Amino acid sequence: MDFSKPDNARTINRLKVLSELRKGECSRAELSRRLGINKVSIGDMIQDMIGEGLVTEGKKDMSAPGRPGTLVSINRSAGRVFAFDLRPRSVSVSVSDTLGHVLRFERFPRNEDAEKNIRHAVEKMSAGSDAKIFGSAVISSDDTFDTSFFPKPILMVPRAMAEAEAEIAKTEHLDGFLFLSWSDTFDAALYKGEIIPLPTLPHMKAQKDGICSCGGKGCLEVAASGKTLMERTGALSVKDLVRNTGYAAAVKEALRPIAVALSEAVQATSADSVMITGELSALPDSAYAYLQNLLSSLLPPSRNVIVYRALSGENGTREGAAIAALDVFFYRTQLLRKLNALQNYF
Ligand SMILES: [Zn+2]
Repeated sequence: MDFSKPDNARTINRLKVLSELRKGECSRAELSRRLGINKVSIGDMIQDMIGEGLVTEGKKDMSAPGRPGTLVSINRSAGRVFAFDLRPRSVSVSVSDTLGHVLRFERFPRNEDAEKNIRHAVEKMSAGSDAKIFGSAVISSDDTFDTSFFPKPILMVPRAMAEAEAEIAKTEHLDGFLFLSWSDTFDAALYKGEIIPLPTLPHMKAQKDGICSCGGKGCLEVAASGKTLMERTGALSVKDLVRNTGYAAAVKEALRPIAVALSEAVQATSADSVMITGELSALPDSAYAYLQNLLSSLLPPSRNVIVYRALSGENGTREGAAIAALDVFFYRTQLLRKLNALQNYF
């Protein structure tokens, strides 16, 4: 894209306004100040965007001195994104608004009716609204599910990345965090300015034996994944592992290989903190305290790395997937980030 062309410059300024309003409602004067774009241009842009239904005008801003301006916000019903979470034993679909709030959610067992059920749910969730459908985020560990009827375009989102997105949207200052997603399988991501997927972390050596599906020996995946623990204990679901205290000893045993893999990963990536996400993140405080002790004992004394529990629980996956899809399809955050980097460079 050539940014010296007026049309492109206008597109970029519109994206800047949208990404600012995504953080919360704001007056025209404040937008002008924050973005360094003159008030007349901001006013014209907002007027166009109101006409297009992208933003709405709300109450008067009484927080600033002088004549009160009206607060402008993103029109939450301007568009929607779908998110599909395809798990080994269940499939789910959710639809979210332009700010990433989940509007509807349905989950089905992964059986011969799963595709029909998901198709039906997509139809229901698309009906009765004139909101534009921007596309779909898909979180999947396999490619055996028919995705041809999912609203296009489709963005594949790694599980840990989606869960990290949801946490970052809720809490500031998560830069330097390593996210370990613990459900049926493991996944990981690192947040350093942007979210960096760490797909090889589940295949770090965490114990002596156990042949992994990757062909490796003693991988974290084969040592402690939800799937492994279910096979080991006979638990019927990953949730069951957390809820049923009868499995607490097996879960506790799994924390040792997790600590081993985390200690390696934290040192390799220079992560400052760890956050456990996914279904198995709902473990009791005592399990976190035990994992914390194990990790601290494996790290050099100078490295004080705290292990946190995700705030979002299992909602985080679909919330974060929607945010990731909006980033790409609507707010185009990657483009803005690159542009900012260029501007700082010159
Ligand atoms: Zn492996």
